[in-house]
Amino acid sequence: MERSVLVEMKKMSDNLGESFYFDVHITKDSATVQEYIDALNAFQETYMQSCLGCGNCCYTRVPLLSIDVWHYLREFPQLAQTEKPLHAFMSRYGEVVAAGETLDMQLAKKENGACIFLQEDDQACAGYSARGLACQTYFCLPESVLAKEIRSAVINQGIDELARAYLAEEGQDTSAYEKNAYWGKRSYNTVLLKDILPQEIWQKAFCCP
Ligand code: SF4
Ligand code: SF4
Repeated sequence: MERSVLVEMKKMSDNLGESFYFDVHITKDSATVQEYIDALNAFQETYMQSCLGCGNCCYTRVPLLSIDVWHYLREFPQLAQTEKPLHAFMSRYGEVVAAGETLDMQLAKKENGACIFLQEDDQACAGYSARGLACQTYFCLPESVLAKEIRSAVINQGIDELARAYLAEEGQDTSAYEKNAYWGKRSYNTVLLKDILPQEIWQKAFCCP
């Protein structure tokens, strides 16, 4: 079946020689965020045998999106069943960082800077089955400007919706946030890329096969 999200390896030549990067395009109006994640995962499996499993990317800021947290909460029913599940999760596994008038939502870190879910004996992810969109869409290969813009928009809107829902859970002021396409959604299958991406990015990303 034809993919709705294409991730392609591209070659670039300059004075320093040849190098590779990846690019992303969307071929169907109906493409979902889950299909974007799946396309990147499939690309990694095909081309990224060189991932060293070094875990370095697990020592950087790991953004959390609203749907990521709902996925994690399925793994932690004791937190999901509390009165304020988002607060219960964020106080145990997340970090809320004030960024001007908005909030940045991240996975918590240990004292040494490692992600809260990184097992340091074998550098494996203890939360692998529920790992979030940022983890599933990152790999060590340069990306096109467009690929970067798509990923940033998909992540930033998810962070904003988590921040909005987190504040709303305690009845706090959410006026810094407009409801976006993640609002009320618990699955990436139900969120369309065309509803997430700003028009100028969508126009560059959407190409008919
Ligand atoms: S994606 Fe890169 S930083 Fe992360 S484990 Fe693989 S090689 Fe290491
Ligand atoms: S959730 Fe897992 S894959 Fe993602 S940063 Fe943490 S340990 Fe690494």
